[in-house]
Amino acid sequence: MENVSFKMTRRQLIQAAATSVFVTGMPNITGCSSLPGYQPTGTDDNKALYLIHGNVVDVVRGEIRHNQTITIKNGRIKTIYNYNQVPPAGEGDMIIDLKNQFVIPGLIDAHCHATLSGEAKLNPWGVLTTMNQLKRNYIQQIKHGVTTIRDMGALPNLLHDHIKQIEKGELIGPRVVYCNSFTNIYGGHPDVDPAAINIFAPIAMAFTGRPNLWFKDTNDLEEKMQINSSFGASFIKLTMDKKSVLCGKGEIPVYTDEHLKLIFDYAQKNNLSTAGHIHTKFGFDRAIQFGIGSVEHSIGDAVLTEKDVIAMAQKKIPVVPTMIVAQMLAEPEAYDELPQKYRNDFIDREMIIRRDYLHSSLDDYTETSIHENNLTHLKDYRKYGCANLYKKGKYMANPEIYFDILLNGPRNLMTMKDAGIIIGCGTDSGVPLSYHGTLWREMEMLCRIGLSNLEVLRCATINNAKIIGMADKIGSLDEGEYADLAVMKKNPLETGEIFSKPQIVIKGGKVYDISRISFTA
Ligand SMILES: [Zn+2]
Repeated sequence: MENVSFKMTRRQLIQAAATSVFVTGMPNITGCSSLPGYQPTGTDDNKALYLIHGNVVDVVRGEIRHNQTITIKNGRIKTIYNYNQVPPAGEGDMIIDLKNQFVIPGLIDAHCHATLSGEAKLNPWGVLTTMNQLKRNYIQQIKHGVTTIRDMGALPNLLHDHIKQIEKGELIGPRVVYCNSFTNIYGGHPDVDPAAINIFAPIAMAFTGRPNLWFKDTNDLEEKMQINSSFGASFIKLTMDKKSVLCGKGEIPVYTDEHLKLIFDYAQKNNLSTAGHIHTKFGFDRAIQFGIGSVEHSIGDAVLTEKDVIAMAQKKIPVVPTMIVAQMLAEPEAYDELPQKYRNDFIDREMIIRRDYLHSSLDDYTETSIHENNLTHLKDYRKYGCANLYKKGKYMANPEIYFDILLNGPRNLMTMKDAGIIIGCGTDSGVPLSYHGTLWREMEMLCRIGLSNLEVLRCATINNAKIIGMADKIGSLDEGEYADLAVMKKNPLETGEIFSKPQIVIKGGKVYDISRISFTA
């Protein structure tokens, strides 16, 4: 890494060399694997898969069509109709009786980081665990009904390697829409140099690719944007705030107007969308002014008025609020006692839900050692004091930012909703404490904020499909769309607390029996 003083002891060098061997052999590593060896079932080309006796949830109309037969061929939905008899299955066709369970479109996690493990600090001795977790990320999504993800900033080479494995059927995983690296100015969010977190990072990144564009001037920007978007990226990820999310770090560099003009011109010319990481009114106003493709996360440092969101509504800019990451990173562990300004019924309840989740069995969401390390790291808040963390080389989220989001985010979201702004649904999983496969936690939180079950289901399906530019292919169970769906035991329009537990998930016509995807031996 340029501009980074990087000194290694002899011992660290040896560790680094060993790690680089692991990293180069990565595609083959399943390690001390907790990866399930499960393979989906399905029919051959031109053979039909009939799902009979299904109650199809029409997320667009908001109604349920009972006793439907869904015919799937070549990975797509061919027909959906009411049919009481067993269809005329020929040789090689397959029939699954859904026994009046409920069929929803495959869920979409519109904001996550597939090549991040959810670790607060990478353990140098845990490289295999981390690599294992990165593969689990995709499996965990499928296990929880998510058939498409939008990756919001990745180690590009690693991501592409994983996508190839998914396409070849070597790894269970969702469809992936991506932007490759963050298009950020040098020092911009995520404002940690990976080399500062992990001594192996510079070596590893030679293989995995760098998560940050970190351009320095307009020439550099143009050159790097071209490289970054040349591998199938469908959008550009921007980071709009000048306030760091890290404890003990203040302001960070932001784009100049000239940079933003260049980026938005480039996006338009190359038919790319844009998405902006935004927690502050400063970033929000600027992003709206430039016509960002989507507002990612929530605004915490201001209460937005109707006037503030008019331009957003007029320009049809959607929001992906990722409230659940605010719940996770609003860390009460940082305080002796939670400051009075953060005490209200909503936050009190979120803190209980957060605590219960953190201390439940998370086998389906993360490697045990990763979660245990994360819980240990939470103790650093009190041990060092928030203000000192950055100085001490501890890069931990500033809980104040996230408590502010819990305080103001719900109201801001409802203001956007009232203005007719499209709301999407995403987790930000991959960041510390946020694990993949937890879209249902965001869905439940949106319900607690005041959206109805149907509205939340729309956020995670049709709205997300629109936001990621795939509404003609996924998100609403229409004939001709990809056969991506999840089967739920109970009516999701009546019971919110079931989004976490699909019985069957189908992606591109391949059938995953969820009970058989297990991470425990
Ligand atoms: Zn993110």
